[in-house]
Amino acid sequence: MNLTECYKQFGISEQIVQVADEIESSLEERFRELDRVAEYNQLKVIAAMQKARVSDIHFAGTTGYGYNDLGRDTLEEVYAHAFHGEDALVRPQLISGTHALTVALSGNLRPGDEILSPVGKPYDTLEEVIGIRESTGSLKEFGITYRQVDLLDNGEFDYEGIRNAVNERTKLVEIQRSKGYAVRPTLSVERIGRLIAFIKALKPDVICMVDNCYGEFVETLEPTDVGADMLVGSLIKNPGGGLAPIGGYIVGRRDCIERAACRLTAPGLGKEVGASLGVSQALYQGLFLAPTVVASALKGAVFAANVYERLGFSVVPNGQESRHDIIQSITFGTPKGVIKFCEGIQAAAPVDSFVTPEPWAMPGYDSDVIMAAGAFIQGASIELSADAPIKPPYAVYFQGGLTWYHAKLGILNSLQKLSEAGIVKV
Ligand SMILES: *Cc1c(COP(=O)(O)O)cnc(C)c1O
Repeated sequence: MNLTECYKQFGISEQIVQVADEIESSLEERFRELDRVAEYNQLKVIAAMQKARVSDIHFAGTTGYGYNDLGRDTLEEVYAHAFHGEDALVRPQLISGTHALTVALSGNLRPGDEILSPVGKPYDTLEEVIGIRESTGSLKEFGITYRQVDLLDNGEFDYEGIRNAVNERTKLVEIQRSKGYAVRPTLSVERIGRLIAFIKALKPDVICMVDNCYGEFVETLEPTDVGADMLVGSLIKNPGGGLAPIGGYIVGRRDCIERAACRLTAPGLGKEVGASLGVSQALYQGLFLAPTVVASALKGAVFAANVYERLGFSVVPNGQESRHDIIQSITFGTPKGVIKFCEGIQAAAPVDSFVTPEPWAMPGYDSDVIMAAGAFIQGASIELSADAPIKPPYAVYFQGGLTWYHAKLGILNSLQKLSEAGIVKV
Protein backbone atom coordinates (compact mmCIF):
# COMPACT_ATOMS: atom_id res chain seq x y z
CA MET A 1 0.00 0.00 0.00
CA ASN A 2 1.37 3.35 -0.98
CA LEU A 3 -0.70 6.27 0.25
CA THR A 4 1.62 8.84 -1.29
CA GLU A 5 0.85 7.35 -4.71
CA CYS A 6 -2.88 7.54 -3.98
CA TYR A 7 -2.61 11.20 -3.05
CA LYS A 8 -0.54 11.81 -6.18
CA GLN A 9 -3.54 10.70 -8.23
CA PHE A 10 -5.36 13.69 -6.75
CA GLY A 11 -2.50 15.95 -7.81
CA ILE A 12 -1.09 16.30 -4.30
CA SER A 13 2.68 16.52 -4.11
CA GLU A 14 4.88 14.19 -2.08
CA GLN A 15 6.13 17.11 -0.04
CA ILE A 16 2.63 18.06 1.06
CA VAL A 17 1.86 14.47 2.04
CA GLN A 18 5.04 14.42 4.09
CA VAL A 19 4.23 17.61 5.98
CA ALA A 20 0.73 16.29 6.60
CA ASP A 21 2.14 13.05 7.99
CA GLU A 22 4.36 14.92 10.42
CA ILE A 23 1.51 17.06 11.66
CA GLU A 24 -0.83 14.10 11.91
CA SER A 25 1.72 12.20 14.01
CA SER A 26 1.99 15.13 16.39
CA LEU A 27 -1.79 15.03 16.90
CA GLU A 28 -2.06 11.40 18.03
CA GLU A 29 -2.85 12.24 21.64
CA ARG A 30 -5.34 14.91 20.58
CA PHE A 31 -7.14 12.52 18.23
CA ARG A 32 -7.30 9.92 20.99
CA GLU A 33 -9.11 12.44 23.22
CA LEU A 34 -11.60 13.16 20.43
CA ASP A 35 -12.20 9.43 20.04
CA ARG A 36 -12.85 9.10 23.79
CA VAL A 37 -15.52 11.81 23.62
CA ALA A 38 -17.05 10.06 20.59
CA GLU A 39 -17.01 6.75 22.48
CA TYR A 40 -18.83 8.31 25.43
CA ASN A 41 -21.41 9.95 23.18
CA GLN A 42 -21.87 6.76 21.14
CA LEU A 43 -22.79 4.91 24.33
CA LYS A 44 -25.13 7.73 25.32
CA VAL A 45 -26.98 7.49 21.98
CA ILE A 46 -27.21 3.69 22.04
CA ALA A 47 -28.49 3.78 25.62
CA ALA A 48 -31.16 6.30 24.56
CA MET A 49 -32.25 4.04 21.68
CA GLN A 50 -32.39 0.98 23.92
CA LYS A 51 -34.34 2.81 26.60
CA ALA A 52 -36.92 3.85 23.98
CA ARG A 53 -37.01 0.24 22.68
CA VAL A 54 -36.29 1.25 19.09
CA SER A 55 -37.39 -1.43 16.64
CA ASP A 56 -37.64 -1.66 12.85
CA ILE A 57 -41.37 -0.90 12.98
CA HIS A 58 -40.31 2.64 13.86
CA PHE A 59 -38.72 3.11 10.46
CA ALA A 60 -42.05 2.95 8.61
CA GLY A 61 -43.41 6.33 7.57
CA THR A 62 -46.87 7.84 7.74
CA THR A 63 -48.62 10.21 5.34
CA GLY A 64 -51.44 12.72 5.60
CA TYR A 65 -52.06 13.97 9.14
CA GLY A 66 -49.59 11.53 10.59
CA TYR A 67 -51.76 10.43 13.52
CA ASN A 68 -50.13 7.83 15.76
CA ASP A 69 -46.81 8.00 13.95
CA LEU A 70 -44.93 5.60 16.20
CA GLY A 71 -41.57 6.22 14.49
CA ARG A 72 -41.84 9.97 14.99
CA ASP A 73 -42.98 9.73 18.61
CA THR A 74 -40.27 7.22 19.52
CA LEU A 75 -37.56 9.27 17.80
CA GLU A 76 -38.63 12.22 19.94
CA GLU A 77 -38.33 10.00 22.99
CA VAL A 78 -34.81 8.99 21.88
CA TYR A 79 -33.78 12.65 21.51
CA ALA A 80 -35.24 13.45 24.93
CA HIS A 81 -33.20 10.61 26.50
CA ALA A 82 -29.99 11.38 24.58
CA PHE A 83 -30.07 15.09 25.42
CA HIS A 84 -31.50 14.62 28.92
CA GLY A 85 -34.64 16.64 28.32
CA GLU A 86 -38.20 15.90 29.41
CA ASP A 87 -39.52 15.96 25.85
CA ALA A 88 -38.50 16.74 22.28
CA LEU A 89 -39.83 17.91 18.95
CA VAL A 90 -37.83 16.32 16.09
CA ARG A 91 -39.47 16.87 12.74
CA PRO A 92 -38.83 17.03 9.01
CA GLN A 93 -41.37 19.88 9.13
CA LEU A 94 -38.74 21.92 10.98
CA ILE A 95 -37.03 22.82 7.73
CA SER A 96 -33.79 24.30 9.08
CA GLY A 97 -32.01 25.48 12.19
CA THR A 98 -33.40 28.97 11.73
CA HIS A 99 -36.91 27.56 11.50
CA ALA A 100 -36.48 25.44 14.65
CA LEU A 101 -35.21 28.51 16.52
CA THR A 102 -38.13 30.56 15.17
CA VAL A 103 -40.65 27.95 16.33
CA ALA A 104 -39.03 27.71 19.78
CA LEU A 105 -39.04 31.50 20.17
CA SER A 106 -42.44 32.31 18.75
CA GLY A 107 -44.08 29.38 20.54
CA ASN A 108 -42.79 30.49 23.91
CA LEU A 109 -43.12 34.27 23.68
CA ARG A 110 -46.22 36.44 23.96
CA PRO A 111 -46.83 40.13 23.21
CA GLY A 112 -45.06 42.32 25.77
CA ASP A 113 -42.34 39.75 26.48
CA GLU A 114 -38.67 40.52 26.02
CA ILE A 115 -35.82 38.36 24.72
CA LEU A 116 -32.34 38.84 26.15
CA SER A 117 -29.15 37.76 24.39
CA PRO A 118 -26.36 37.98 26.98
CA VAL A 119 -23.68 36.83 24.51
CA GLY A 120 -23.84 39.57 21.87
CA LYS A 121 -25.46 39.57 18.47
CA PRO A 122 -27.17 36.30 17.52
CA TYR A 123 -26.66 34.38 14.26
CA ASP A 124 -27.35 36.46 11.14
CA THR A 125 -30.61 34.79 10.17
CA LEU A 126 -32.07 35.44 13.64
CA GLU A 127 -31.76 39.19 13.15
CA GLU A 128 -34.79 39.14 10.88
CA VAL A 129 -36.64 36.59 13.02
CA ILE A 130 -36.31 38.81 16.09
CA GLY A 131 -36.67 42.07 14.17
CA ILE A 132 -33.19 43.47 14.85
CA ARG A 133 -33.32 44.01 11.08
CA GLU A 134 -36.80 45.00 9.88
CA SER A 135 -38.58 42.02 8.42
CA THR A 136 -42.10 40.90 7.61
CA GLY A 137 -43.51 38.71 10.37
CA SER A 138 -40.69 39.35 12.85
CA LEU A 139 -41.26 38.89 16.59
CA LYS A 140 -41.01 42.67 16.85
CA GLU A 141 -44.22 42.98 14.76
CA PHE A 142 -45.94 40.93 17.49
CA GLY A 143 -44.85 43.33 20.24
CA ILE A 144 -41.93 41.22 21.46
CA THR A 145 -38.85 43.28 22.27
CA TYR A 146 -35.17 42.41 22.26
CA ARG A 147 -32.24 43.39 24.42
CA GLN A 148 -28.61 42.47 24.01
CA VAL A 149 -25.58 42.49 26.28
CA ASP A 150 -22.25 42.08 24.51
CA LEU A 151 -19.38 40.04 25.84
CA LEU A 152 -16.59 42.06 27.42
CA ASP A 153 -13.45 42.74 25.38
CA ASN A 154 -11.71 39.85 27.13
CA GLY A 155 -14.49 37.47 26.04
CA GLU A 156 -16.02 37.21 29.54
CA PHE A 157 -19.72 37.65 30.31
CA ASP A 158 -20.71 41.17 31.30
CA TYR A 159 -22.42 40.12 34.53
CA GLU A 160 -23.08 43.72 35.57
CA GLY A 161 -24.64 44.49 32.18
CA ILE A 162 -26.76 41.33 32.35
CA ARG A 163 -27.99 42.21 35.85
CA ASN A 164 -29.07 45.64 34.56
CA ALA A 165 -30.73 44.19 31.45
CA VAL A 166 -32.95 41.61 33.17
CA ASN A 167 -36.33 43.18 33.95
CA GLU A 168 -39.94 42.20 34.67
CA ARG A 169 -40.59 41.62 30.96
CA THR A 170 -37.56 39.36 30.37
CA LYS A 171 -39.17 36.06 29.40
CA LEU A 172 -36.52 34.19 27.44
CA VAL A 173 -32.75 34.25 27.30
CA GLU A 174 -31.19 33.16 24.00
CA ILE A 175 -27.65 31.79 24.34
CA GLN A 176 -25.79 30.91 21.17
CA ARG A 177 -23.17 28.24 21.87
CA SER A 178 -21.20 28.45 18.63
CA LYS A 179 -19.49 31.63 17.55
CA GLY A 180 -21.07 31.08 14.11
CA TYR A 181 -19.50 33.63 11.80
CA ALA A 182 -18.61 36.07 14.56
CA VAL A 183 -15.20 36.68 16.09
CA ARG A 184 -16.05 35.83 19.70
CA PRO A 185 -14.96 32.48 21.12
CA THR A 186 -17.41 29.57 21.15
CA LEU A 187 -18.86 28.90 24.60
CA SER A 188 -18.04 25.69 26.40
CA VAL A 189 -20.96 23.86 28.02
CA GLU A 190 -19.40 24.59 31.40
CA ARG A 191 -19.43 28.35 30.70
CA ILE A 192 -23.02 28.16 29.50
CA GLY A 193 -23.86 26.47 32.82
CA ARG A 194 -22.31 29.33 34.80
CA LEU A 195 -24.22 31.89 32.73
CA ILE A 196 -27.54 30.06 33.20
CA ALA A 197 -26.97 29.76 36.97
CA PHE A 198 -26.33 33.52 37.18
CA ILE A 199 -29.47 34.35 35.18
CA LYS A 200 -31.70 31.91 37.09
CA ALA A 201 -30.50 33.45 40.35
CA LEU A 202 -31.67 36.85 39.08
CA LYS A 203 -34.96 35.54 37.66
CA PRO A 204 -35.78 31.87 38.28
CA ASP A 205 -38.75 31.63 35.87
CA VAL A 206 -36.92 32.91 32.78
CA ILE A 207 -36.64 30.37 29.92
CA CYS A 208 -33.00 29.72 29.03
CA MET A 209 -32.82 28.61 25.39
CA VAL A 210 -29.54 27.52 23.80
CA ASP A 211 -28.89 27.66 20.05
CA ASN A 212 -26.89 24.42 19.95
CA CYS A 213 -26.04 24.49 16.20
CA TYR A 214 -22.63 22.92 15.46
CA GLY A 215 -22.15 22.03 19.14
CA GLU A 216 -23.85 18.63 19.48
CA PHE A 217 -21.56 15.78 20.60
CA VAL A 218 -18.43 17.96 20.63
CA GLU A 219 -18.32 17.55 24.42
CA THR A 220 -19.70 14.84 26.71
CA LEU A 221 -22.15 17.32 28.24
CA GLU A 222 -24.86 19.26 26.44
CA PRO A 223 -26.37 22.54 27.65
CA THR A 224 -29.46 20.66 28.94
CA ASP A 225 -27.09 19.01 31.44
CA VAL A 226 -26.26 22.41 32.92
CA GLY A 227 -29.70 23.97 33.25
CA ALA A 228 -30.87 24.93 29.74
CA ASP A 229 -34.67 24.76 29.40
CA MET A 230 -34.60 24.41 25.61
CA LEU A 231 -31.93 23.20 23.21
CA VAL A 232 -32.37 23.87 19.50
CA GLY A 233 -30.50 22.72 16.40
CA SER A 234 -30.48 21.56 12.79
CA LEU A 235 -30.44 17.96 11.57
CA ILE A 236 -28.31 18.80 8.53
CA LYS A 237 -25.58 19.70 10.99
CA ASN A 238 -24.14 17.51 13.77
CA PRO A 239 -27.05 15.39 15.10
CA GLY A 240 -28.22 14.25 11.66
CA GLY A 241 -24.91 12.46 11.21
CA GLY A 242 -24.91 13.28 7.48
CA LEU A 243 -27.87 10.99 6.82
CA ALA A 244 -30.80 13.20 7.83
CA PRO A 245 -32.11 14.73 4.58
CA ILE A 246 -33.93 17.56 6.42
CA GLY A 247 -35.09 18.54 9.87
CA GLY A 248 -34.60 20.36 13.13
CA TYR A 249 -34.97 19.54 16.81
CA ILE A 250 -36.04 21.20 20.02
CA VAL A 251 -35.36 19.33 23.29
CA GLY A 252 -36.07 20.39 26.83
CA ARG A 253 -38.75 21.16 29.38
CA ARG A 254 -42.11 19.56 28.59
CA ASP A 255 -44.11 22.80 28.75
CA CYS A 256 -41.65 24.60 26.44
CA ILE A 257 -41.80 21.76 23.90
CA GLU A 258 -45.60 21.72 24.03
CA ARG A 259 -45.80 25.45 23.32
CA ALA A 260 -43.32 25.08 20.44
CA ALA A 261 -45.34 22.16 19.01
CA CYS A 262 -48.55 24.22 19.12
CA ARG A 263 -46.80 26.84 17.04
CA LEU A 264 -45.27 24.41 14.55
CA THR A 265 -48.61 22.69 13.88
CA ALA A 266 -51.61 24.45 15.41
CA PRO A 267 -53.09 25.22 18.83
CA GLY A 268 -54.98 22.12 19.92
CA LEU A 269 -53.01 19.85 17.56
CA GLY A 270 -49.48 20.17 18.97
CA LYS A 271 -47.32 17.06 18.74
CA GLU A 272 -50.19 14.77 17.69
CA VAL A 273 -49.86 15.48 13.97
CA GLY A 274 -47.08 15.72 11.37
CA ALA A 275 -46.38 12.79 9.06
CA SER A 276 -42.81 11.48 9.01
CA LEU A 277 -43.09 10.67 5.26
CA GLY A 278 -40.53 7.89 5.40
CA VAL A 279 -37.52 9.87 6.63
CA SER A 280 -37.52 8.39 10.15
CA GLN A 281 -34.91 5.71 9.50
CA ALA A 282 -32.41 8.28 8.24
CA LEU A 283 -33.00 10.39 11.35
CA TYR A 284 -32.45 7.42 13.68
CA GLN A 285 -29.42 6.13 11.82
CA GLY A 286 -27.97 9.62 11.46
CA LEU A 287 -28.21 10.19 15.21
CA PHE A 288 -26.57 6.82 15.76
CA LEU A 289 -23.63 7.84 13.55
CA ALA A 290 -23.45 11.45 14.75
CA PRO A 291 -20.87 11.01 17.56
CA THR A 292 -18.25 9.50 15.23
CA VAL A 293 -19.10 11.86 12.39
CA VAL A 294 -18.61 14.83 14.73
CA ALA A 295 -15.26 13.37 15.84
CA SER A 296 -14.20 13.12 12.17
CA ALA A 297 -15.15 16.72 11.55
CA LEU A 298 -13.24 17.76 14.68
CA LYS A 299 -10.13 15.89 13.56
CA GLY A 300 -10.31 17.79 10.27
CA ALA A 301 -10.68 21.11 12.09
CA VAL A 302 -7.80 20.43 14.49
CA PHE A 303 -5.61 19.19 11.63
CA ALA A 304 -6.38 22.27 9.48
CA ALA A 305 -5.65 24.58 12.42
CA ASN A 306 -2.25 22.96 12.94
CA VAL A 307 -1.36 22.92 9.25
CA TYR A 308 -2.21 26.56 8.62
CA GLU A 309 -0.87 27.78 11.93
CA ARG A 310 2.47 26.25 11.04
CA LEU A 311 2.39 28.11 7.71
CA GLY A 312 1.95 31.39 9.58
CA PHE A 313 -1.77 32.07 9.12
CA SER A 314 -4.05 33.19 11.91
CA VAL A 315 -6.48 30.40 12.86
CA VAL A 316 -9.45 30.40 15.27
CA PRO A 317 -9.51 28.26 17.36
CA ASN A 318 -5.75 27.81 17.41
CA GLY A 319 -4.06 24.42 17.04
CA GLN A 320 -3.95 23.65 20.76
CA GLU A 321 -7.24 25.04 22.08
CA SER A 322 -10.04 22.77 23.25
CA ARG A 323 -13.03 22.64 20.94
CA HIS A 324 -16.65 23.53 21.62
CA ASP A 325 -17.99 23.45 18.06
CA ILE A 326 -16.84 22.08 14.67
CA ILE A 327 -16.07 25.39 12.94
CA GLN A 328 -12.54 26.37 11.99
CA SER A 329 -11.64 29.76 10.63
CA ILE A 330 -8.42 30.51 8.76
CA THR A 331 -7.49 34.06 7.79
CA PHE A 332 -5.69 34.30 4.46
CA GLY A 333 -5.70 38.08 4.16
CA THR A 334 -6.32 38.07 0.39
CA PRO A 335 -9.27 37.15 -1.85
CA LYS A 336 -7.03 34.80 -3.80
CA GLY A 337 -6.08 32.83 -0.70
CA VAL A 338 -9.72 32.32 0.24
CA ILE A 339 -10.68 31.33 -3.31
CA LYS A 340 -7.83 28.80 -3.68
CA PHE A 341 -8.69 27.22 -0.33
CA CYS A 342 -12.32 26.78 -1.36
CA GLU A 343 -11.31 25.37 -4.76
CA GLY A 344 -9.24 22.74 -2.96
CA ILE A 345 -12.13 21.73 -0.71
CA GLN A 346 -14.49 21.48 -3.67
CA ALA A 347 -12.06 19.39 -5.71
CA ALA A 348 -11.90 16.82 -2.89
CA ALA A 349 -15.66 16.22 -2.82
CA PRO A 350 -17.33 12.93 -3.72
CA VAL A 351 -20.13 14.95 -5.35
CA ASP A 352 -19.59 17.87 -7.77
CA SER A 353 -15.80 17.68 -7.55
CA PHE A 354 -15.58 18.94 -11.15
CA VAL A 355 -17.18 22.35 -10.54
CA THR A 356 -15.21 25.46 -9.59
CA PRO A 357 -16.70 27.60 -6.83
CA GLU A 358 -16.80 31.32 -7.54
CA PRO A 359 -17.61 34.36 -5.39
CA TRP A 360 -21.20 35.49 -5.93
CA ALA A 361 -23.75 37.92 -4.49
CA MET A 362 -25.99 36.11 -1.97
CA PRO A 363 -29.21 37.32 -0.32
CA GLY A 364 -28.56 38.55 3.21
CA TYR A 365 -24.84 39.27 2.69
CA ASP A 366 -23.26 42.65 2.04
CA SER A 367 -20.35 41.27 0.00
CA ASP A 368 -19.81 38.49 -2.52
CA VAL A 369 -19.56 35.06 -0.92
CA ILE A 370 -17.74 31.94 -2.05
CA MET A 371 -18.97 28.51 -0.98
CA ALA A 372 -17.39 25.12 -1.48
CA ALA A 373 -19.63 22.13 -0.91
CA GLY A 374 -19.86 18.83 -2.67
CA ALA A 375 -22.56 17.35 -0.51
CA PHE A 376 -24.98 14.44 -0.62
CA ILE A 377 -27.54 16.60 1.17
CA GLN A 378 -27.93 20.08 -0.25
CA GLY A 379 -26.43 22.68 2.08
CA ALA A 380 -25.48 20.14 4.75
CA SER A 381 -22.63 21.69 6.70
CA ILE A 382 -21.81 18.52 8.66
CA GLU A 383 -20.41 17.48 5.27
CA LEU A 384 -17.03 18.96 4.33
CA SER A 385 -17.70 22.55 3.36
CA ALA A 386 -16.13 25.98 3.40
CA ASP A 387 -17.43 29.46 2.87
CA ALA A 388 -16.08 32.96 2.99
CA PRO A 389 -17.33 36.49 2.44
CA ILE A 390 -14.99 38.25 0.01
CA LYS A 391 -14.09 41.11 2.32
CA PRO A 392 -11.36 41.84 4.88
CA PRO A 393 -9.92 40.09 6.79
CA TYR A 394 -10.46 37.44 4.08
CA ALA A 395 -11.12 34.58 6.44
CA VAL A 396 -12.55 31.26 5.41
CA TYR A 397 -14.91 29.27 7.65
CA PHE A 398 -14.43 25.59 7.27
CA GLN A 399 -16.44 22.77 8.82
CA GLY A 400 -17.60 19.20 8.56
CA GLY A 401 -16.36 16.02 7.02
CA LEU A 402 -18.37 12.81 7.34
CA THR A 403 -15.08 10.92 7.54
CA TRP A 404 -11.70 12.14 8.77
CA TYR A 405 -10.03 10.88 5.60
CA HIS A 406 -12.25 13.01 3.43
CA ALA A 407 -11.57 16.07 5.59
CA LYS A 408 -7.84 15.35 5.32
CA LEU A 409 -8.02 15.05 1.53
CA GLY A 410 -9.83 18.39 1.38
CA ILE A 411 -7.18 20.11 3.48
CA LEU A 412 -4.30 18.61 1.47
CA ASN A 413 -6.04 19.65 -1.75
CA SER A 414 -6.42 23.20 -0.45
CA LEU A 415 -2.76 23.24 0.47
CA GLN A 416 -1.81 22.03 -3.02
CA LYS A 417 -3.90 24.79 -4.68
CA LEU A 418 -2.45 27.48 -2.41
CA SER A 419 1.04 26.17 -3.04
CA GLU A 420 0.56 26.15 -6.83
CA ALA A 421 -0.69 29.73 -6.65
CA GLY A 422 2.46 30.72 -4.76
CA ILE A 423 0.49 31.74 -1.65
CA VAL A 424 2.08 29.19 0.67
CA LYS A 425 5.49 27.57 0.63
CA VAL A 426 5.46 24.01 1.92
C1 LIG B 1 -26.40 27.18 11.16
C2 LIG B 1 -26.76 27.98 12.33
C3 LIG B 1 -28.05 28.50 12.50
C4 LIG B 1 -29.13 28.42 11.46
O1 LIG B 1 -29.28 27.21 10.88
P1 LIG B 1 -29.82 27.03 9.37
O2 LIG B 1 -30.11 25.60 9.35
O3 LIG B 1 -28.72 27.45 8.46
O4 LIG B 1 -31.03 27.87 9.23
C5 LIG B 1 -28.32 29.18 13.66
N1 LIG B 1 -27.37 29.38 14.59
C6 LIG B 1 -26.12 28.92 14.45
C7 LIG B 1 -25.11 29.19 15.52
C8 LIG B 1 -25.78 28.21 13.32
O5 LIG B 1 -24.53 27.75 13.19
